[in-house]
Amino acid sequence: MKVNFVDLRAQYLSIKPEMDAAIAGILESCAFVNSRSFEKDFATYLDLKNVVGVGNGTDALCMAVHCLGIGPGDEVICPANTFIATAEGIGWAGATPVFVDCDPVTYNLDPTKIEAAITPRTRAIVAVHLYGQPADMDPIVKIAKDHGLLLIEDCAQSHAATYKGKKAGTFGDVACFSFYPGKNLGAYGDGGAVATNNDELAAAVRKLGDHGSSVKYRHDFEGINSRLDGMQGAVLSVKLKHLEKWSDRRIAVAARYNAGLKDVCVVPQTAAGVRHVFHLYVIQVNNRDDVMKHLGEQGIGCGIHYPVALPVTPAYAHLGYGAEQFPVSCGIADKLVSLPMHADLTDEQVDFVIQEVKKVAK
Ligand SMILES: *Cc1c(COP(=O)(O)O)cnc(C)c1O
Repeated sequence: MKVNFVDLRAQYLSIKPEMDAAIAGILESCAFVNSRSFEKDFATYLDLKNVVGVGNGTDALCMAVHCLGIGPGDEVICPANTFIATAEGIGWAGATPVFVDCDPVTYNLDPTKIEAAITPRTRAIVAVHLYGQPADMDPIVKIAKDHGLLLIEDCAQSHAATYKGKKAGTFGDVACFSFYPGKNLGAYGDGGAVATNNDELAAAVRKLGDHGSSVKYRHDFEGINSRLDGMQGAVLSVKLKHLEKWSDRRIAVAARYNAGLKDVCVVPQTAAGVRHVFHLYVIQVNNRDDVMKHLGEQGIGCGIHYPVALPVTPAYAHLGYGAEQFPVSCGIADKLVSLPMHADLTDEQVDFVIQEVKKVAK
């Protein structure tokens, strides 16, 4: 039995007629350049006033940080345990990422460690809802308010996740989404979006991504070209209709894994009041090389998210951090393994993965 880490082909086949019709519609209309219809659909889904489609999730972060007026001389707090794009958004805007360690249970930004990282230069916090589990937003929102900081949500892994009944992406000043194909809501190419109730911010992001222009050929400043194209928008509108059902299936797969693996390794825990949508199903083992080698030999795809904590990654060596400052993020980096996770996994496949992990995990 082969078990893919993600299975975009199985997903496509499950919605083929609908998807083929949507793509044919774009070819017929030649509406290639933007995706206003999906932007509306996604704004309605999130219950936010504005969604601006951009080229990818990394652009969404860079553009949001820049358009919030953050730049050189400013510091922005972000988690040590996340994909580099979170910090790239800060660095590309000219600001300095300030890393904070993660919580050992949820792997998300540890709210009890944020205040020690705040300085007079701090302008914002980027909360990442990592692996699909919302960060602990009540204390994070309070810290941002108490210190007059902007709050940015990195929702690249958390489409359809909720915290105390409210969708991830609706807690901060702005939310940044990725529609990279393997994300929970994924396009058939790169895509991203900035979502916000702030009309001015949305207009600024739109203008930045369209060559500094909101009226054709009137360029108020040098912008960039970063838009969500029509084809991707059509794909995403089709997939958005299935997102709730797919999220429920991910949650059921995670529950089955947890039941099968809880006595063999550290399994993910969902915090109270949270809908963890399991973009990734991440366990901890003490013999990762053996586990990954064995799973690979059995045809089971797996991955590591992430092998090196950001503060000690070469890209941030100039900031001078040491691993001892991030005991949790650096301590788990050698133990994390991500098992296959997607909505098209069958119970038989999940049971096969459980059986094979059990044979080797220590
Ligand atoms: C995928 C991802 C991004 C970046 O998205 P791209 O669309 O690949 O640029 C940002 N942050 C996190 C946490 C991600 O997982």
